[in-house]
Amino acid sequence: MRDFLLDDADRAFRCEVRDFLRRELAPRASDIEDQQDWSAVKHVVRSLGEAGYLRLMFPELYRGPLAKPGLTHATVLSEEAAYINYAFETTIATALSCAYPLHRHAGERLRETYLDPILDGTAIGAICVTEPNVGSDSAGMETRIDFDAKTNEWVINGFKRYISNASVADVYIVYGTATDADPAHAGMTAVAVPATAPGVRFPRNYTFMGRRGCIVGEVEFNDCRVPADHLLGERGGGFRIMRGMFNFERAILGGSGLGVARSAFDIATAHAQRRRSFGQMLGCKQLIWEKIAQMSWRIDAAELLTYRATKMYDAGADGKALMKEAAMAKLVATETANFCANETVQILGGDGITKEYGRAEQVYRDARALTIVGGTSEVAKYLIASRDLPDIRINL
Ligand SMILES: Cc1cc2nc3c(=O)[nH]c(=O)nc-3n(C[C@H](O)[C@H](O)[C@H](O)COP(=O)(O)OP(=O)(O)OC[C@H]3O[C@@H](n4cnc5c(N)ncnc54)[C@H](O)[C@@H]3O)c2cc1C
Repeated sequence: MRDFLLDDADRAFRCEVRDFLRRELAPRASDIEDQQDWSAVKHVVRSLGEAGYLRLMFPELYRGPLAKPGLTHATVLSEEAAYINYAFETTIATALSCAYPLHRHAGERLRETYLDPILDGTAIGAICVTEPNVGSDSAGMETRIDFDAKTNEWVINGFKRYISNASVADVYIVYGTATDADPAHAGMTAVAVPATAPGVRFPRNYTFMGRRGCIVGEVEFNDCRVPADHLLGERGGGFRIMRGMFNFERAILGGSGLGVARSAFDIATAHAQRRRSFGQMLGCKQLIWEKIAQMSWRIDAAELLTYRATKMYDAGADGKALMKEAAMAKLVATETANFCANETVQILGGDGITKEYGRAEQVYRDARALTIVGGTSEVAKYLIASRDLPDIRINL
């Protein structure tokens, strides 16, 4: 049964948000993919904000009809958006990853300035972790965040790359090191940096094989200064903030993977029931049945793992308790998206690799990023096993 872990209110919400995205996102999806039309992305972000959907994750800030909004609903939103256009979904998922630490760890003035506009859909957020020498090994980052007691400011120096929403975001959550602590992650610190702060530059954006329409690029901080109150949490508390953010982000990525996988599956099953081959419908062939069955059970497994993680979060599980389940959701859903996209292209044959006959080739290109962003599949496996082998500390 689909949606097994969701209750009636959750399912009704899915129908509502699906209708909304069909009206607002679907008509703009080809402009986002073909023209990389940022104004189309912004338009839909704004309408999601106006409808209150960007507040789902923050129950006390939510003003809509759901009795108990939460990560489950934000993930349903991600799943439904990724089904239509994964690039668009990454823009809102990234903005929520920025909103999460602002909501939990910022002072009131900072929340008013940066969080409220993101949740209203009038501002865009970004997260700056990855650097040229630091990807999976995020604890070893080289960006410095030093405090200047004379001016009462944080001074940021560093270079971040592969930053989603770079150059179009209004506010950046920047992680760096503020002390010479050993181990290095003990000095990790997070600050909020507005795009207009002195010393912020956006050297270039990248071209990717998929996710077209989501802008991803570099951000450079050169003696960039922000006021003292732009610190999130406390100095040296950045690693804990980042770990919490990644748990929530990985559960949402379960939704992204599911949306992309379901999109591929629907293309494949429609084709298998339409295309004739050797005198019969393609779907009659046992080798095609096998592919459909493989996709089907993987999607169900991904769905169960994803909504188990979100339901745990909504029930109050803390970051430590959620780490394994969130990593499993991300791992299985994003690997499933790749599996389904690949098999769909195969089922469609030539139609699968041209732009002339639908979206199979786009879904295939889009899916590829999923096992890399938000922590790779290899990192997710490490997180899972580290819970199963608690007495073993491996040096990655
Ligand atoms: C489209 C896109 C959007 C992104 N958006 C953002 C963003 O908004 N903000 C942000 O901060 N970052 C972002 N990233 C960066 C992303 O999080 C990193 O790409 C990812 O964490 C992997 O880091 P890396 O690319 O440096 O690969 P590396 O860390 O160099 O890894 C390369 C390969 O080696 C494997 N590997 C590494 N270490 C080990 C090990 N110990 N054992 C086994 N295998 C290992 C990895 O799993 C991977 O397969 C984005 C990336 C992409 C592609």
